[in-house]
Amino acid sequence: MNNKHDAISRRDVFRLGLTASATLGLASLAHAQDAEPQPQADPATQGAGFYRFNLGELEIAVIADGTFQAPAATFAANQTEETAAAEARKHFADPEAMTCHVNGLIVRSTDTVTLIDTGCGANFGPTLGKTPDNLTRFGIRPEDVSTVVFTHLHIDHCGGVVGEHDASLYPNAEFVTTQAERDFWTQNPDLSKTGIPANTRDYLINIAQQAATNTADRTRIIQPGKEIVPGITSVDLPGHTPGHIGVMLDSRGETLFFVTDAIHNAKIQMANPTWHVAFDTDPVQAAKMRQRALDRAAVEKLMIAGSHLPFPAVGHVRPLGGGYEWEPVAWAWN
Ligand SMILES: [Zn+2]
Repeated sequence: MNNKHDAISRRDVFRLGLTASATLGLASLAHAQDAEPQPQADPATQGAGFYRFNLGELEIAVIADGTFQAPAATFAANQTEETAAAEARKHFADPEAMTCHVNGLIVRSTDTVTLIDTGCGANFGPTLGKTPDNLTRFGIRPEDVSTVVFTHLHIDHCGGVVGEHDASLYPNAEFVTTQAERDFWTQNPDLSKTGIPANTRDYLINIAQQAATNTADRTRIIQPGKEIVPGITSVDLPGHTPGHIGVMLDSRGETLFFVTDAIHNAKIQMANPTWHVAFDTDPVQAAKMRQRALDRAAVEKLMIAGSHLPFPAVGHVRPLGGGYEWEPVAWAWN
């Protein structure tokens, strides 16, 4: 068939087939499109960036801050590079560039709105710092937040109050941290046991100190293991940093254990919890803490969430071999 003829005849059929009302409808649609810009997909993001669920009377969402990439050796600091690379490949990951998620948690009760960790802000590259946008998408304005919990003062947990957005981003919030964590970063921190390069160490220290300074007049120090707000209790998990805490959420008999940075890479560390992580301030203490946290989750069959588990970062663990197996929840749309 002649393509040109075919095109013309189809156009003619289309024109002749239009009824008066359809023409009117199209005209008003065109007018509406003139009036309102077409929604544009954000080319820099993926989906909505939050994962909502209920825990008793608490409404919870995991809030994605974004992702970064790190070599497998970062999560196997006391292993050879070959061993680390082999473990990554076993899980179909690129040993040079494993994708690492950064997640926070928002918890809404009838009286409180608690944000657990603020993400990186603009301090760790353009693939991160999405916490404020994803909070808005979830339906929480920064001014609605009544408590911000810093699980520790690493850049990916406190950077959201440093830089363009300082503590004024959360104008009505108190900021909660532990004494050990605040003291560590503000009193000549020793990062010599970490695998963090020297120039990056200074940057990390600087961000932690700015976060401490920016929030000083609204800081509440809590004891590890003590309640933060009703239904939210801290869990002492030292080693990753000296004052590193997890968070236990409890409502009407339902429990969620936010293990924070007890684990950084599910592909590598679930099976190998004794392997060291370059970010850990005390890698030996951190490995023990990781096993203790995951063991508790396995024995008590607790639902867990994690700062660096793959989004939506909610699931269970069970013992397997000398380590654990990660069983993520099935994504629920409602
Ligand atoms: Zn972290």
